[in-house]
Amino acid sequence: TIDRTQREYSQAAKDFLARKPQLFINGEWVDSSHDATLDVEDPSSGKIVGKIVDASDKDVDRAVAAARTAFDDNRWYGLPPMQRERVMHRLADLLERDADLFAELEAIDNGKPKGMAGAVDIPGAISQIRFMAGWASKTGGQVINPYTMPTGTVFSYTVKEPIGVCAQIVPWNFPLLMACLKIAPAVAAGCCTVLKPAEQTSLTALKLADLVQEAGFPAGVINIITGNGHTAGDRMVKHPDVNKIAFTGSTEIGKVINKNATDTMKRVTLELGGKSPVVVMPDVDVATTAPGVAGAIFFNAGQVCVAGSRLFAHKSIFDDVLEGMTKTADFWSPRASLDPAGHMGPLVSKEQHEKVLGYIEAGKRDGASVVMGGDAPASDGGYYVNPTILANVNPQMSVVREEIFGPVVVAQRFEDLDEVAKMANDTNFGLGAGVWTKDVSAMHRLASKIKSGTVWGNCHATIDTALPFGGYKESGLGREQGQAGFECYQETKTVIIQL
Ligand code: NAD
Repeated sequence: TIDRTQREYSQAAKDFLARKPQLFINGEWVDSSHDATLDVEDPSSGKIVGKIVDASDKDVDRAVAAARTAFDDNRWYGLPPMQRERVMHRLADLLERDADLFAELEAIDNGKPKGMAGAVDIPGAISQIRFMAGWASKTGGQVINPYTMPTGTVFSYTVKEPIGVCAQIVPWNFPLLMACLKIAPAVAAGCCTVLKPAEQTSLTALKLADLVQEAGFPAGVINIITGNGHTAGDRMVKHPDVNKIAFTGSTEIGKVINKNATDTMKRVTLELGGKSPVVVMPDVDVATTAPGVAGAIFFNAGQVCVAGSRLFAHKSIFDDVLEGMTKTADFWSPRASLDPAGHMGPLVSKEQHEKVLGYIEAGKRDGASVVMGGDAPASDGGYYVNPTILANVNPQMSVVREEIFGPVVVAQRFEDLDEVAKMANDTNFGLGAGVWTKDVSAMHRLASKIKSGTVWGNCHATIDTALPFGGYKESGLGREQGQAGFECYQETKTVIIQL
């Protein structure tokens, strides 16, 4: 049973939840053009704890117009780059100051343990801003030596310029981190943006708007609106005054967005779903590897785009690895998000709860056996699912092929490296992969064979703002983070002068 001795919300969180639902447009809090709102639900209890605006088409147009004007009159890109960098660092400083409130709001809104939000989400968001801030003054171009050019008689150079107005749409699993991951490279490159968080988890993006104001960003550079994807999000994607879409979310919606952005030829980056393999080679120390591969799937209740949801353990150690994982059941047992003893919270919503339990039932019907979990704990409200391991699965089952986005891993045996590389690649996704081994040669061979944007060795889901992140195949387009991520907010202009 879920322990209900969770702490009360802090006064600061209560005050924030009691605020009038508004949008952050052109540097100020404004009312929506209509009265439609969406509920804010605490997934730990299933209770409605606040309201946010469900932005109208007019609201979206107003936000895009603010960003357009701010971009076109050069009030941001026209500033000395180190001044822009400074404003970004000020925003990061303010996030550090308010980190505890942000962690609490994230826990209330998303269901993740507050301790985890405080250790992972908030510092991660801050480091996105600090890392990208530095690029503002370090971006340049190239001079192409006329003596190396076929034409020979021209002097030419390239400059990197901001793409323009960005529409940025993020999901609910790491709300603030995803928001900062989008905003930071955009404004560092000199773009202006309209950001829409997921309708399930908009609190921290709204709170961030307070800090954007306090940090001193010029009006219109960062606009934050809330609302449904198929209405507000769709309007953003189709808007003729938007130059770039940056989207993180499901592959299904990513495909829709990519199509909808075509008519106006917007630049598009997509960070989509995954079904990431985790390969455990026969040489590992099982005692230390099993908790690692358990963490690869149960962290954030499996609501991670790179969750290690397909486990491949060598047949000689398969049973031992699974046994080691079952020993972590207590550590990962779900608790309310403000329970300081918790490492895993509820799933984000009723819809997600039903979806994940539905997959588990489908797996059982298809013949999978439940090694651990496989159900929901007793609870008087809230969307908890026990950490689940399924074995005796085959590649045709929906639990093996589809992204579940919950704390559910499917475990399969393999015999040799080439076989497991094939099994790992038997998916339409290609976001992340983990390899656990002490064998350096096996590590590098698998890193080369596996088709995914990131391959981890003896760790999983380690993300660093300095390192490019993104998907092969149906897991995405383009990269975020690192220099590659920054450059996805720039156009390259070539200047050619006849000598
Ligand atoms: P989702 O695709 O349903 O929604 C994501 C966002 O898109 C939300 O803000 C939503 O309002 C908006 N949206 C929905 N329909 C839209 C439309 N027609 N036009 C414009 N915007 C629209 O995804 P979700 O369920 O919120 O998130 C889970 C998914 O996100 C998973 O598939 C997960 O793998 C993926 N994800 C990927 C990454 C990554 O970096 N690759 C990171 C986190 C999550």
